[in-house]
Amino acid sequence: MFDLIIKNANLPDGRKGIDIAVSAGKIAAIEANIAGEARETIDATNRLVSTSFIDPHFHMDATLSLGLPRMNVSGTLLEGIALWGELRPQLTKEALVERALAYCDLAVSQGLLHIRTHVDTSDPRLVTAEAMLEVKERVAPYIDLQLVAFPQDGYYRAADGVKSLERALDMGVDIVGGIPHFERTMQDGAASVEALCRIAADRGLPVDMHCDETDDPMSRHIETLSAQTVRFGLQGRVAGSHLTSMHSMDNYYVSKLITLMAEAQINVIPNPLINIMLQGRHDTYPKRRGMTRVRELMSAGLNVSFGHDCVMDPWYSMGSGDMLEVGHMAIHVAQMSGVEDKKKIFDALTVNSAKTMGLENYGLSVGCNADLLMLQAEDVLEALRLKPTRLAVIRRGKVIARTEPKISHLVLDGRPGQIDAGRNPTTRG
Ligand SMILES: [Zn+2]
Repeated sequence: MFDLIIKNANLPDGRKGIDIAVSAGKIAAIEANIAGEARETIDATNRLVSTSFIDPHFHMDATLSLGLPRMNVSGTLLEGIALWGELRPQLTKEALVERALAYCDLAVSQGLLHIRTHVDTSDPRLVTAEAMLEVKERVAPYIDLQLVAFPQDGYYRAADGVKSLERALDMGVDIVGGIPHFERTMQDGAASVEALCRIAADRGLPVDMHCDETDDPMSRHIETLSAQTVRFGLQGRVAGSHLTSMHSMDNYYVSKLITLMAEAQINVIPNPLINIMLQGRHDTYPKRRGMTRVRELMSAGLNVSFGHDCVMDPWYSMGSGDMLEVGHMAIHVAQMSGVEDKKKIFDALTVNSAKTMGLENYGLSVGCNADLLMLQAEDVLEALRLKPTRLAVIRRGKVIARTEPKISHLVLDGRPGQIDAGRNPTTRG
């Protein structure tokens, strides 16, 4: 007797009519026509069933704080950082926990069950770290939450930046962060990358830095990060988030840089919604897009995964916890509109991010955790186009969220009709 069988599903790799049987929270079988009884059965005919979504770059200490204490008028990254600095002294652990838990509820409803969040360590009170450690424990039954010690005001630039980051790691924060482009000088930035990689190597922790989140083509901390990764033997365990300066760099230089990044096995995390919103703000016309070179990085064999970064905070007044919205924007900004391109974008929201975060037992094969979604779409192309309803969200084999399918009923010239938002007109029978 299985705990659950999902019948007749379409899978992200294009297979159709596949059953998925679940026992003890794991996938017990995945093939056509599985025989045997189950306590619960879900009919997934014409529905895409995928692994749960992953967000490898988020700011859960800032989320849902939009308007506190005021709005970002210029819309720039730098005003966002200044605004967050105004709010920071007023932050309380209780309010941080409350907002984060509210966001986690939203995330679950969207099928987002694994999140890596940066935690600002600039305030020596470290209420942010205290709050996020509590949230991590409370959401553990339904969300895998990883925490990055993130010196928002600069590792060297903030008065207690060095000490506070180490204290956050001592408290149990999982990953070493950084923000080299925000240090006072390029030299300080490079020195911070070296110091932070050394800490990671000494403590046996991964690294995830905000790196070159700027339109400056000479912001080249990703070069230093790659070199220090190799030097400290951290290959595959380092992520470079944003990398927007690569958009503006000289092409010849980038051809050398990407080879170095591949040698270091850097995990690349662009944040399409935020990058297109914040970068290029100092340009008149033409305005740069500020998205790193996704297609070229993927072609060079680098692991690229996309982050949501912000929802309703000093940097971004939009967002809904929907990784398909992130993928939708990535398709546009990276101009990856081909069928194979789109499949790669879907992978960047799922399997690539699992690699970035080092998630174990993530996938659609026997023995993997049964962390699954049923979407109101037939395949990944339709999912990316429609950002459809998450009909069922399954965590370790249990349905933890359900949403009714979106179906519009029309009456046109007295002729009743129906549009199932999940069906592609080209395949309508
Ligand atoms: Zn960020």
